[in-house]
Amino acid sequence: MELVQVICTLCPRGCQLRVHPETYFVTGNQCPNGVEYGRVELQRPLRTVTGTVGVESGRLRRLPVTTEEPVPKEQIPAVMAAIREIVVRPPIAVGEVIMPNVAGTGINLVATRKLTAE
Ligand code: SF4
Repeated sequence: MELVQVICTLCPRGCQLRVHPETYFVTGNQCPNGVEYGRVELQRPLRTVTGTVGVESGRLRRLPVTTEEPVPKEQIPAVMAAIREIVVRPPIAVGEVIMPNVAGTGINLVATRKLTAE
């Protein structure tokens, strides 16, 4: 059975992992973290989603946001669609929850920058 090639993005080394599609046995990792990364990447890939939301008033027109934790890859389009609909009103603190349970993922969308009221 052909091994699946996965690049580990956990650190700058970027190891080229080879993962067995049935046993999820991982090779090519230069540290133990790559084993879990390779397995998750085949079984249930996750990604942190970032973007910007609209700002109702003030100097900045967009506010950068991120999911607090990685979300399943197949839910990224729903998260992006939710992000496109959001408009916030300052003041906003760094880390403030902009949308709880974004797109039904169970994960919060939070601000990554402070916005002050004008
Ligand atoms: S396997 Fe370990 S050393 Fe290699 S990229 Fe992943 S975290 Fe870095």
